[in-house]
Amino acid sequence: MNKLGVHALVWVGGWSHAEAIRAIEQTAALGYDLIEIPALDPTTIDTAFTRKLVEANKLGITVSLGLDGGADISSEDPEKVKKGEALLNDALKVTRDVGGTHMCGILYSGFQKYAVPATPRGLENSVDVLRRICERAAESGITIGLEVVNRYESNVLNTAAQAVDFCQRIGAPNVKVHLDTYHMNIEENDIEEAIITAGKYLGYFHIGESNRGYLGAGNIDFDKIFRGLARLDYQGPITFESFSSTVVNPQLSGILAIWRNLWEDSRDLAGHARDFIRANLKAAREAQKRHG
Ligand code: MN
Repeated sequence: MNKLGVHALVWVGGWSHAEAIRAIEQTAALGYDLIEIPALDPTTIDTAFTRKLVEANKLGITVSLGLDGGADISSEDPEKVKKGEALLNDALKVTRDVGGTHMCGILYSGFQKYAVPATPRGLENSVDVLRRICERAAESGITIGLEVVNRYESNVLNTAAQAVDFCQRIGAPNVKVHLDTYHMNIEENDIEEAIITAGKYLGYFHIGESNRGYLGAGNIDFDKIFRGLARLDYQGPITFESFSSTVVNPQLSGILAIWRNLWEDSRDLAGHARDFIRANLKAAREAQKRHG
């Protein structure tokens, strides 16, 4: 059974104690299995407080982030690579201390628009750092998910095929491909086949609409998405991601270009997403059973 999650930015823009309480309690109240918290700045998270809260609410927790340009491990600049590795290690400690099972996102490069392609030496740097991060993560049983994003958010991994190749280069048992329907819709030739391409490497999955709003109210062909997940018999986490100018995280909202207001009622949005994902996944799995 897939664990169903929701991204914290559906509820709150920061992670003060009051915000953490609100996000975690609402997530649990709607029957989700886990919450994903952003850790672009790992120092902003009170790990002991967060861990106690998720445990009290019987929720799982995952952590996501993207590297900033000054901490880009796909750079040829050794200073940036060093900073990036330190940031990843800090985020990994946060993941471990909150009781997290997965650390995912744009862990392999800057989370930004690039004006030039990645270089072979830069890619080698990224692979080397991630190999060490995966080893450390394995000590705490943490899975590393490399999120495939569109061309405006990284120049390293834009397709599932690229991510499989990258995981093979890293060669760690706990490094996985993290796909996101919003990005797949922009970059993949065929969104169903992209899931099959990820295959056994698929370890984390984001579901978001083409406009980042209500599921089913945009352009994404979700029949193909759920058919792909059913064909692969994917059993890992599925996390709902949605952003609106109603809930703002100054760092994250800016990079993601969240300029429009697509929803106001977080609870209605997240409740709908839970039903949408459950119903469509169930339908796709039943169809798969009957017709193969
Ligand atoms: Mn995502």
